[in-house]
Amino acid sequence: MIPHYIGDSTPDPGSTGLDNMDPWAHIIGGGLSGLSLASSLAKLGNLPGQVVVSEPNLDALVSKTFSFWFTAAEENFLKPEFSSDTWTLSTNDLQVTQQGSCFRYGTRTGRNVLEAALRAIDLHPQIRIVKEAVHAQPKASHCFDSRPCNIDSFELTQSFFGTEVLFDQPHGISQIGLMNEIQRITNGIRFIYTLPMGPHRLLVEHTDFVTTPSDFSILKDLNERYLQQHFDASRFRITRMETANIPMGFTHQSINWGTPLGARGGMTRDATGYGYRTIRYACDVIAKDLVKYNSIKPYRRFKMTDWADQLFLNLIKQRPDVIPNTLLQIANKMSPDRFAAFMMMRSPIDLIHMFRAAPVKPFTCALLGRYQWI
Ligand SMILES: Cc1cc2nc3c(=O)[nH]c(=O)nc-3n(C[C@H](O)[C@H](O)[C@H](O)COP(=O)(O)OP(=O)(O)OC[C@H]3O[C@@H](n4cnc5c(N)ncnc54)[C@H](O)[C@@H]3O)c2cc1C
Repeated sequence: MIPHYIGDSTPDPGSTGLDNMDPWAHIIGGGLSGLSLASSLAKLGNLPGQVVVSEPNLDALVSKTFSFWFTAAEENFLKPEFSSDTWTLSTNDLQVTQQGSCFRYGTRTGRNVLEAALRAIDLHPQIRIVKEAVHAQPKASHCFDSRPCNIDSFELTQSFFGTEVLFDQPHGISQIGLMNEIQRITNGIRFIYTLPMGPHRLLVEHTDFVTTPSDFSILKDLNERYLQQHFDASRFRITRMETANIPMGFTHQSINWGTPLGARGGMTRDATGYGYRTIRYACDVIAKDLVKYNSIKPYRRFKMTDWADQLFLNLIKQRPDVIPNTLLQIANKMSPDRFAAFMMMRSPIDLIHMFRAAPVKPFTCALLGRYQWI
């Protein structure tokens, strides 16, 4: 399906493309969170007013894939297209393989998110997508701002380059390579992520958690080298590439045009960059509150999660050398389902299970700010 818009770009800052009518809700950005909110609103029938989604480039979503852990009860809402119950983590010396009982690791393509959202929005007479970049806070009863924050405000950055390849025969990989060959690099850590997307497709990503964003060309070369080392080059071709610099914490707050949404609204996890599950559920709650009460409570994370994630970010900054073994030890000691629940940070209890599994020294020293004692 080719993305289409209702309305045209307009030179007026803050314009809605709807002549002079101020909408009831204006969503700035039609990426994952903007479209999640719009499609949740679309399910709620008659709305108190018009909804506008301003997005200059709907196609951008097509170059992304979203992965997450889910339970059977969540499948219908989160809509994974591919999934596996087994994932691995490794360093050069150790490997941990986990098999979930309640949790599977699923993936949904950005194309699928976009097409489903467009179908829902198309059917709703009060919701419109306008092809425009907004340059000032629009006039509306409710404004939601999902513009990505400036990279200068990131505390650490998750930089990755993904290369998706299509094989002429099944590649034979069923496990998710979640964090493999984790190693220290100069300004953080690096690992390889391998994601089977059906029997013929594979996504390979070199990912860095770093203090300054990485050079994508280096990560791209590493993917190519990995593919050449593991597969016969005549058996696959590259079909898609994706790159990202995802925020891992922010050094300062951005100025929002209304309620912040998505990564801007703290819906991606500082320690991991995962955001899909939180964004889908948080936007659904916001949509329901908006229609029921004509007001919303901005999304808030658990304070304990922020605190623990900050500890982890400090460790990456100060002692990246201890991260590979620390992660392996946590994965080795936690049950697969608890590990999955912790990665999705479903409740503060998940954090307690993580601390019980984690090696005591690095986290205690990080707590005391004595990184040299580790
Ligand atoms: C490549 C990639 C892969 C990811 N993979 C995963 C994953 O596997 N699992 C997971 O949980 N999370 C993942 N994430 C993290 C997170 O889920 C995504 O970053 C998610 O897209 C965040 O949603 P968002 O709405 O905040 O931002 P976006 O989806 O980036 O949407 C923001 C939108 O705002 C638009 N915009 C910018 N400026 C303006 C303006 N002035 N006016 C109007 N619109 C504007 C942009 O064009 C964009 O479409 C990934 C992120 C990326 C970038």
